[in-house]
Amino acid sequence: MDKIRMTTPLVEMDGDEMTRILWGMIKEKLILPFVDLKTEYYDLGLLHRNATKDQVTIDAANAAKRLGVAVKCATITPNRQRMEEYPELTEMWKSPNGTIRAILDGTAFRAPIVLPCIHPVVKNWEAPITIARHAYGDMYKAVDMVTDEPGTTTLTFKGESGAEKTLTVQTVDGPAVWQGQHNKEASIRAFAQSCFQYAIAQKQDLWFSTKDTISKVYDGEFKRIFEEEYENTYQAEFEKLGLTYFYTLIDDAVARVIHSKGGFIWALKNYDGDVMSDMVATAFGSLAMMTSVLVSPDGTMEFEASHGTVTRHYYKYLKGEKTSTNPIATIFAWSGAFKRRGELDGLPDLVKFGEAMEAASLETLESGVMTKDLTGLVDEGFPVTAVNSEEFLDAVAARLAEKLA
Ligand code: NAP
Ligand code: MG
Repeated sequence: MDKIRMTTPLVEMDGDEMTRILWGMIKEKLILPFVDLKTEYYDLGLLHRNATKDQVTIDAANAAKRLGVAVKCATITPNRQRMEEYPELTEMWKSPNGTIRAILDGTAFRAPIVLPCIHPVVKNWEAPITIARHAYGDMYKAVDMVTDEPGTTTLTFKGESGAEKTLTVQTVDGPAVWQGQHNKEASIRAFAQSCFQYAIAQKQDLWFSTKDTISKVYDGEFKRIFEEEYENTYQAEFEKLGLTYFYTLIDDAVARVIHSKGGFIWALKNYDGDVMSDMVATAFGSLAMMTSVLVSPDGTMEFEASHGTVTRHYYKYLKGEKTSTNPIATIFAWSGAFKRRGELDGLPDLVKFGEAMEAASLETLESGVMTKDLTGLVDEGFPVTAVNSEEFLDAVAARLAEKLA
């Protein structure tokens, strides 16, 4: 069999611990036998980040910007405990995802992988709900204070031109608590652009909700910028693809999401996205079945699993145990990257390969062959065979070979 051809390389960002082991197995069993794989490889493993003073993370992010599609393995974000575990670390390096997000100016979209044999807690959800969370500002870059006597707080903006604007926040008759928030028009616009880009790439409707009835100016600005971007840039493409951009008040959105069948993208402000993404993820089932895509306003996409490096399993692996770590989200990071690369480069066989990887994985799960994290989630009476990661990947590889034959 001829291997599937690639033209532009993928940016491959390797990572840490158990996910690094899965990464190698996925390449060996599911990719290299079928694809003439072209990647620009960056080792984002903690020790290599340390050896390069984290330059490798910056280089990888810039490569993603240049080539347009990246796939990333989970990585350790060092904390104090990790500094003890790895005494060679010269600094508590920043979160690689944070660094990459800042360089790509991107928005992270989190999507669950759904299976007929695992029912979401919300009975009528049939298709995934993808959450897009704005990742800048509001409460997350706010200043707060407590005051202990009657008085007045004002809000003053001093422009570089010398112009000034002052508002009275409130006059209080006793102790009070205060918070000053902001967001930047450029960040809101980049968020809107990423959302419209991703909706078009996924061919799914986009919902956006804020509390603009109460927060008329602040949230009103979010609503206005989304509308402006939609009308000026994306409406024609949405109409061509039969997609809907739907704005509604957040209260209304929450009710509609619960009653919906799923299958759309829900864009949310920073705090709303923080809260709702945990709710939606939990209702769909398992962290090991959640993918994440970072989308920049220019359409650059970086695919990864939402979970971390699964440290507990890695220590078992180091002792020689075969672990039952679920590779699904990491497989879907690769398949997502192949599909996107194939679409951008006009390589239908590469798109089909990504689809075949996903279908082979889902069919394996549907046949009851799954890792241990899932066996407790399936519907009652569904017959399961619990396997380790390697056995699972062998089963997927066999199905994939059949599909591609
Ligand atoms: P984690 O790696 O997501 O694992 C937490 C627990 O969730 C695991 O111990 C395991 O539960 C379960 N789990 C997660 N993924 C699984 C999978 N694929 N298959 C089976 N079970 C899975 O989170 P963590 O332990 O909090 O973080 C570990 C490291 O990952 C940290 O150093 C953190 O900095 C890093 N991290 C990286 C990213 C990223 O790169 N995107 C994201 C989050 C965390 P059981 O132990 O009960 O089996
Ligand atoms: Mg949260």
